[in-house]
Formats: sequence, structure tokens, C-alpha cells
Amino acid sequence: MKSFRKELLFRTKTRRALVNITPQVKTALAESGIREGLCLVNAMHITASVFINDDESGLHLDFERWLEKLAPEKPHDQYDHNSHEDNADAHLKRTVMGREVVVAITNGQLDFGTWEQIFYGEFDGMRDKRVLVKIIGA
Ligand code: ZN
Repeated sequence: MKSFRKELLFRTKTRRALVNITPQVKTALAESGIREGLCLVNAMHITASVFINDDESGLHLDFERWLEKLAPEKPHDQYDHNSHEDNADAHLKRTVMGREVVVAITNGQLDFGTWEQIFYGEFDGMRDKRVLVKIIGA
């Protein structure tokens, strides 16, 4: 069995952002040389997510509005966590959107369903963040 590890680096210009990272994951898969196996992609921070959904701009606005209803960023003092930070909303948004995805690798390709794309969801950006790609197989 082969194993491959790579970190993807992000520093978004805005506090919140959705980034389609499918091209970077495909590059990592090509670098791994693995043809059959599993690909794990996870955020390495507790205020960011990795999830799979559609790359459709209207849906991305819908995610933003929905998450702001569930866990509004402001006022900051509505959250106990914000006694020493201002990112409680980012922790909650990350939990809703998920930490990681696992995609099957078949014949050297990410074995997606229709319209599936991998996204990095940033909820406390403008700082250096990392995503782990771990691929195992043969
Ligand atoms: Zn925090």
C-alpha cells in the first residue's frame, strides 16, 4: 500500500470565503501516483471546513445567509467564547459545514457523483490556514 501526504495553504482576503479546491486535490492525487484507494481532505483548523457540494454562485450565497442565520458573526458579545476571542460564530459554522471529506479513488480519478466538488470553507480568514490531503491505496 502506498501513502501520500500534502498540505494545502490558504490565506483568504475576507473573513469568510468558499474556495473550490478540487483542482489542488486532483494535483495531489496525480503526484501520489495512486490509482485505487481513498483520499481524505480535512481542514487543520477549528474555524474552517472542508465539504462537498455544487460550485454554483447562488448556492454559495445561500450558504452564507443560512450560516449567518444559524450563527451570526455579530454582536460578538452574544457568545460566551468571545470573552477572549471574536470567532465563536466561526467555530459553530465550521461544525455545521464539517471537518473533512473522503473521496474514493478509482482508476486514478476522484470518483465523484454528479456536480460534486470539494470546497474549503473559511469562517475566520485573513490568516494562514492549512488543509491536509492524505491519500492511501495502490
Ligand atoms: Zn475561538
